Amino acid sequence: MTAPTVPAIARPGFDAELAEALLALPVVHPGAERLTAIAPFDGQPLVEVPCSTVADVDLAFDTAAQAQGRWAQTDVAERRRIMLRFHDLLLTHRDECLDLIQWETGKTRMDAMKELLGVCTIARHYARVARRMLEPQRPLGLLPLLTRVSVERHPVGVVADIAPWNYPLFLALADAIPALMAGNAVVLKPDHQTSLTALYAVDLMHRAGIPRRVLQVVLGYGPQLGPELVERADYVMFTGSSTVGSRIAGRCGERLIGCSMELGGKNPMIVLEDANPSAAAEVAIRACFDNAGQLCVAMERLYVMDGIHDAFMERFLSRIRNLRMRAEVGWAADYGSLIGAEQLARTTAAVADAVEHGAEVLVGGRPLPEIGPFYYAPTVLTGATEGMAVHREETFGPVVTVQRVDSEEQALALANDSVYGLNASVLTGDDRRGAALARRIRTGSVNVNEAYEATFGSTRAPMGGMGRSGVGRRNGAHGLTRFTEEQTIAVQRGIGFGTPFGMEHDDWSELLVRGFRGLRRSGLA
Ligand code: NAD
Repeated sequence: MTAPTVPAIARPGFDAELAEALLALPVVHPGAERLTAIAPFDGQPLVEVPCSTVADVDLAFDTAAQAQGRWAQTDVAERRRIMLRFHDLLLTHRDECLDLIQWETGKTRMDAMKELLGVCTIARHYARVARRMLEPQRPLGLLPLLTRVSVERHPVGVVADIAPWNYPLFLALADAIPALMAGNAVVLKPDHQTSLTALYAVDLMHRAGIPRRVLQVVLGYGPQLGPELVERADYVMFTGSSTVGSRIAGRCGERLIGCSMELGGKNPMIVLEDANPSAAAEVAIRACFDNAGQLCVAMERLYVMDGIHDAFMERFLSRIRNLRMRAEVGWAADYGSLIGAEQLARTTAAVADAVEHGAEVLVGGRPLPEIGPFYYAPTVLTGATEGMAVHREETFGPVVTVQRVDSEEQALALANDSVYGLNASVLTGDDRRGAALARRIRTGSVNVNEAYEATFGSTRAPMGGMGRSGVGRRNGAHGLTRFTEEQTIAVQRGIGFGTPFGMEHDDWSELLVRGFRGLRRSGLA
């Protein structure tokens, strides 16, 4: 293992020493190749990240596999203590962590804080419920009293956890936590733009008591490391684009290993005519422009009913014009930067394509270099039609299309007209009406009178996508049990299932038929 030589660039407010210490952590498997991460606030190089090689990926898996058996033997109560300690450490060191997130992503501090609180919620939740979820179940056997069945849960082994850059803290840990609680080892591959945040989180985990070898990190470009990660894993947890996700899921299928795919969305929000226009505008601001729209569950399509359209739009556009923007670490901004040049180009191209094909810009519609090199104005378009990229494709930026609709049925049909199915929102003055409409929307989560936090933060309930938005769910019971293999053990006592010695098959068969009728009458089995 070679220690990096010039990893962090000194600049006011950036803790270069911390960055260097993180990159030198023994858990990192660094190769000789470097990549330069850019600070979105000023577009200048932030840190030189050593890239792992394919051999480093193998070493990480070998190390994790050797340590996993012992980790699986630890009492769940001990894992619970570690996870709660991690929860407390993260809250204590929140400022240092929020600084890193902001430096690496350019997001607002509030967006970063939401990530941090999300991780704490998940850590607390699985610390508390893991024991119950992992306990053996005792379902009734084939012959009650005679067939004693237990269903045991075993960890799958080593989980490859591939995470994107948009929520670098949350997505580094949201799945690693239940995987670890279930007794697995994890090899984490964060996005190459957000290595420091992931390393900070992993270091806190180790300080809380997770054995170093049980939680390993590989750094670098996904296309370079991805194939080997998928080849070596016992289970793949992937969060990212639908294109890459479907490719990885295909390989998991060939290898016959389990996988979870948390992918993209083109999420619809429906504003019903009985909603409060001001409250609806407040929710829509967060729904569309939190994290500058670089959020899988962000709304990119708004369907607004006739009766509220004008009142809602007036408030929505006015609130957008008043968002505070500052390219700096700290609490001053309501709206943050895009992460980098690629996202800026993608957003700019999507809006240009829409305008070229006849869409109208109601607000925004341009980069904001006067604020920061990768800032793009929060943008509202009308007149989006078939054939424009913004109509069906995920922009993953601060761009929303608005369409006036004259009925709930029209809104519903438009909302469901997508290959994606991640998240949706219904704004209404009538909770029951909202919930009834929600049941007819084909998405993994629907928030009534909220944007995304209500479902996203309700850790006891599953979160994930239908259609091109994914396979599997994080959170809820499945969020942990997916990282286990179920094993059924049946202990047979007394009579077995073969024809007893000395008895004819037809007599035995007759006896079985009588037994089945008895079971049917008893209602037991
Ligand atoms: P991406 O698919 O390009 O990259 C995601 C991760 O996969 C990164 O770590 C990347 O290095 C890695 N990767 C890239 N190519 C790979 C390959 N061939 N093999 C293995 N790993 C590879 O996605 P992105 O652009 O970084 O992230 C944005 C996308 O993620 C959006 O579509 C967004 O909706 C989605 N997302 C989904 C969720 C969710 O929970 N559903 C959450 C956040 C982001």
